[in-house]
Amino acid sequence: MKQPNILFIMSDDHAAHAIGCYGSVINRTPNIDRIAEGGMRLDNCFCTNSICAPSRAGILTGQYNHLCGVRTLNERFNGRQQTFPKMLQAAGYQTAVIGKWHLGHGGDADPTGFDYWNVLPGQGEYHNPRFFNMGAKTKKDGYVTDIITDLSLDWLRRRDREHPFLLLCHHKAPHRPWEPDDKHARMYEDEEILEPPTFAGDHSGHARAARAAKMRIEDLNPIDTKGRPPRGLSAAEKKRWKYQRYIKDYLRCIASVDDNVGRLLDYLDEDGVAEDTVVIYTSDQGFFLGDQGWFDKRFMYEPSLRMPFVVRYPREIAPGGACGDMALNIDFAETFLDYAGLDIPASMQGASLRGVLRGETPPGWRTSMYYRYWMHKDNPHNVWAHYGIRTHEYKLIYYYADKLDTPGPFYPSRGEPGRPEKPEWELFDLKKDPLELRSVYGLPEYETITARLKDELYALKDRFGDKM
Ligand code: CA
Repeated sequence: MKQPNILFIMSDDHAAHAIGCYGSVINRTPNIDRIAEGGMRLDNCFCTNSICAPSRAGILTGQYNHLCGVRTLNERFNGRQQTFPKMLQAAGYQTAVIGKWHLGHGGDADPTGFDYWNVLPGQGEYHNPRFFNMGAKTKKDGYVTDIITDLSLDWLRRRDREHPFLLLCHHKAPHRPWEPDDKHARMYEDEEILEPPTFAGDHSGHARAARAAKMRIEDLNPIDTKGRPPRGLSAAEKKRWKYQRYIKDYLRCIASVDDNVGRLLDYLDEDGVAEDTVVIYTSDQGFFLGDQGWFDKRFMYEPSLRMPFVVRYPREIAPGGACGDMALNIDFAETFLDYAGLDIPASMQGASLRGVLRGETPPGWRTSMYYRYWMHKDNPHNVWAHYGIRTHEYKLIYYYADKLDTPGPFYPSRGEPGRPEKPEWELFDLKKDPLELRSVYGLPEYETITARLKDELYALKDRFGDKM
């Protein structure tokens, strides 16, 4: 079978619940929905660490962060290791990454395995952004999401048609500080965006780690909200004001992403290659959209754990499907290799989604997943390190605090002197409490399931080689 083209569109911090086909009640995304309508939507796609660079490193290598070497935002990616773009390039694909890279720059951190790369330095800028074009500094006038798409279309137009392509079109948007373009700047101006049901976010049913986190809507600063709240507002009114300012800009940035997804889909149609191209839209992780009273990500709770994932490949995937099988960001590399007809190296820790996307779940497919966030307090939001397991019914989270005595950059924590934190567990019964409002850890009726989940958690930890 002919090797398909692969167009891998990824945005940054785009939560599934801000996508039309995932049932968003706050915005519409007709073009991202077009991908789902022509193919498959995954309803249980999760990241193994809900933060930018680690998720990206996991995607490139198909490995958990302790193996691919990027556990936190402070670690640079070592491009000498095996990645799926390198393997596809070696197999005859023309390869490119355009847009956000966020895995470091210079030496071994520069993109490898790409015939062409043109990426934003670090987080990148929304307006008149700078780029590293194959390492050379350049600057482009305009809006970042449009420019990344322009560069992607330019590259597609001048490609060698004798060979399949792999294009990573990776947007900066809708990452903080949520600066929309002029075209969408007044969208939602005359409406109130609905607040999520968990907006109060008192965290009375959560571990102390949740109450300690500084990512409350109240914590949004004047740069985030493009101004200060009017004088005379009550605390509750201020919070609502900040939420509206934040969420509207977030959704405006997404509107631009969606328009630009449409431009790429139109191009594939015009070029006559839509049938032969695997198109994926995803985001490096989810995001709190006022859920639990928060913005940002990092936690293993559903809004940030969950990744959107829609895919279209008419030759193999039936249109209009949805699937609840558990998929992970570390499955993407294996999936691309599988489509290209390549062997999947044993060092990769995920599994190809190709069967799942065809509607044929492989026997013995995973029913639980392992998660780990490593940046213990060493982050502006004071989110504590944790690991955990999610099954289709339960989620067990362990905030290990200062308990681990393994020397390393993450231990001991920078906690207040003389006040070491105690480890804490949370258990959520996802069927009864899908919004994760009340941990049931320690309740007698959950003792048996807790013991079983702990066994499975340690077995997964062991299997993936995470010894710390
Ligand atoms: Ca991100």
